[in-house]
Amino acid sequence: MHGHLPHIQEFLPLAPYTTLGLGGAARYFAACRTDAELRDGIAHARERGLPLLILGGGSNLVIADEGFDGLVLKLETRGTSREDAPGGVRLTVAAGEAWDEFVRLSVEQGLSGVECLSGIPGSVGATPIQNVGAYGQEVSQTIAAVAATDIRTGESRSFLNAECRFGYRQSRFKLEDAGRYAVTGVTFMLQEDGRPQIRYPELQKNVASTVDLEALSPGAPALQAVRECVLALRRKKSMVLDPSDPNTKSAGSFFTNPVVSCEAADRLRARHAGLPSYPSGTGVKLPAAWLVEHAGFPKGYRYGGAAISENHSLALVNRGTTTAELLSLARRIQDAVQEQFGIRLEREPVVIGSTSA
Ligand SMILES: Cc1cc2nc3c(=O)[nH]c(=O)nc-3n(C[C@H](O)[C@H](O)[C@H](O)COP(=O)(O)OP(=O)(O)OC[C@H]3O[C@@H](n4cnc5c(N)ncnc54)[C@H](O)[C@@H]3O)c2cc1C
Repeated sequence: MHGHLPHIQEFLPLAPYTTLGLGGAARYFAACRTDAELRDGIAHARERGLPLLILGGGSNLVIADEGFDGLVLKLETRGTSREDAPGGVRLTVAAGEAWDEFVRLSVEQGLSGVECLSGIPGSVGATPIQNVGAYGQEVSQTIAAVAATDIRTGESRSFLNAECRFGYRQSRFKLEDAGRYAVTGVTFMLQEDGRPQIRYPELQKNVASTVDLEALSPGAPALQAVRECVLALRRKKSMVLDPSDPNTKSAGSFFTNPVVSCEAADRLRARHAGLPSYPSGTGVKLPAAWLVEHAGFPKGYRYGGAAISENHSLALVNRGTTTAELLSLARRIQDAVQEQFGIRLEREPVVIGSTSA
């Protein structure tokens, strides 16, 4: 008996629940407004042997045209608690809260640490999955702990930052534990009245030409100025959801930036003049956008109803396509980059239920 089983719908189209607007129906679908509903929904799927998909904002998902033959639980839990702690302010946020709303409120309260992650769509609970990052910040820099429910047993678990095994657009939740845990809440450690840390050159330049950050008080005014600059930069690249901009009908960047060894980067640079590269850990990060463009796929490239964004070389856009066609465009790009540069680009979004993936 599950006293908190959420209302379950059948054959619900999933496309409207994704930013790409693609994919078939969920065999079963329920929105969970409390952790108890989520727990009972998970138990329901386990008892019936149903595959389970935890859905947040659908902004990093590609759903097969055939849909998902299992139970989709959409997380709509809400709530944030704040506690002053040694070394900062601890904020524990429910997984279903909208990420950018959390960033906006943190900035307003003068709390630094997530301001460069302004404008990223999706839910708070999804941010640890791929260690969401942009403009020199990643959530791994501020996450103290992740609370989760084990889908196999229904048990609650908490992971400290080091246990999440965060990497570039990676964590245990996307690698060895993919699909195993439902994140129920995330605890962030932010700094009060801190100065924004601007490490990313493009953002540094934009801030310098827009505001005199030194003249602004630390805390909310300076953080707000940085947030505005980030949002402006992102809008130019169609990286802020906007129903009036068809280039935002995407899942964000479709490919991650490859990291190669220093020797491999030297070899590539010798053969391809102008290939940019950045140090990354023990290796070298190459911009996937440059590789895609130089493999013959310019911004605005069309492949049937699938396209590359006119404003961002890495965003694949739905201009009246199917998941199969979009994935076919992705594969063409991957093959061309592989042929030209010997590098296999990795997909960033999670592909669900596609046999042609
Ligand atoms: C326009 C645009 C711009 C973007 N810009 C960026 C960017 O700058 N940086 C960046 O890193 N990403 C970016 N993204 C990708 C995306 O917004 C993030 O990955 C985001 O964290 C996804 O959140 P979501 O709630 O929409 O997750 P969903 O798309 O709903 O889910 C993504 C994956 O996470 C899993 N998941 C979601 N919630 C939970 C949970 N609570 N527990 C367990 N698993 C869960 C899902 O099962 C799925 O596997 C962008 C996307 C778009 C559309």
